[in-house]
Amino acid sequence: MQWRRHIHQNPELSFQEENTSKYVEEVLKSLPNIEVIRPAKTSVIGILKGAKPGKTVAFRADMDALPMQEESGVPYSSKVENVMHSCGHDAHTAMLLGTASTLSKMKDQIKGTVYFIFQHAEETPPGGAVDIINAGALKDVDAFFGMHVLPNFPAGHVGILPVGAASTAQDVFDLHIIGKGSHGSMPHLGIDPVVVGAAIVTALQSVVSRNVEPGEMTVVTIGKFQSGDAFNVIADRAELAASIRTTSDDTRKLVETRIKEIIDNITKAYGATYELDYISTYPAIQNDEALNSLARRSAAAVLGKDKVFDAPMMTASEDFAYYRKIAPVSFMTLGIGEGAANHNPKFTVDENALQNGVKAQVQIILDYLNK
Ligand SMILES: [Zn+2]
Ligand SMILES: [Zn+2]
Repeated sequence: MQWRRHIHQNPELSFQEENTSKYVEEVLKSLPNIEVIRPAKTSVIGILKGAKPGKTVAFRADMDALPMQEESGVPYSSKVENVMHSCGHDAHTAMLLGTASTLSKMKDQIKGTVYFIFQHAEETPPGGAVDIINAGALKDVDAFFGMHVLPNFPAGHVGILPVGAASTAQDVFDLHIIGKGSHGSMPHLGIDPVVVGAAIVTALQSVVSRNVEPGEMTVVTIGKFQSGDAFNVIADRAELAASIRTTSDDTRKLVETRIKEIIDNITKAYGATYELDYISTYPAIQNDEALNSLARRSAAAVLGKDKVFDAPMMTASEDFAYYRKIAPVSFMTLGIGEGAANHNPKFTVDENALQNGVKAQVQIILDYLNK
């Protein structure tokens, strides 16, 4: 897998994938029957038109790395200081190049069109998927597939994620409560933002327990609550920051509405004011049932039934979720053996797994177009 090692040694951050995209473009251009387009500055799409007409299917790989110093100890470690492929996007890119290479020689057996999407900037919202979609490059696609490497599952085993929510949506907020400072012994002359903040934190606990339907996975975490400098001074401001995870659009809206109501009403009740920055990042991936079953059957056909398993929902967020705006999607995982988690400086990939990933991708694409 010299492609993967080359990309691993030369990682680039989100929106800066200049050399990676150039490299991918060169490899794609060296393959027969593949047309290359550049829908965004650092994204590449390879298009393979089969000999016979049919549907259009897309497989997506992401190409960006993360801002961290590699500590994996592999001989082909990152040559760039403080940049590392610790989410395995190098493996995704290499596998999809492998898939493109295999299919490019099978034009005569292909009914329809295949898009190989090499996407930039998965790791940094607003994410690269939105750019590619907005460029209009994918409007003819009938189905999207994606595959993410995941440690601590057997190397080369394909994990089919659940139908429906396969990852979570993440929203974040930053709240400044503006009170009125005073001497600690004269609370009646101030408006204490710590008391207001504490009331908000307590009330927010009721969103998951009292508003969201039981059993629907939802998390509201206040990760930051800062105010004041001295024991005998009432501060004039407090800052709270939170992360919110949901798995459906309805719950996502409900949670946002309830959080805003609680903040607005409690600050009012205490005579304080506030500034709120509520940011919605990626939605949840919603896997399609028919595409999931096809992926399961195709992967089992080439790898054997024992190498395909039901993977639990990913609690992380992924901008692959946006492709569902165009057509149904199916996102799956590929086990890469025991090791450190994604986004860890010691993250490694058992490269033996990647051949299975390519085999499964090729079969899924062929089966989708020929079904
Ligand atoms: Zn990641
Ligand atoms: Zn990733």
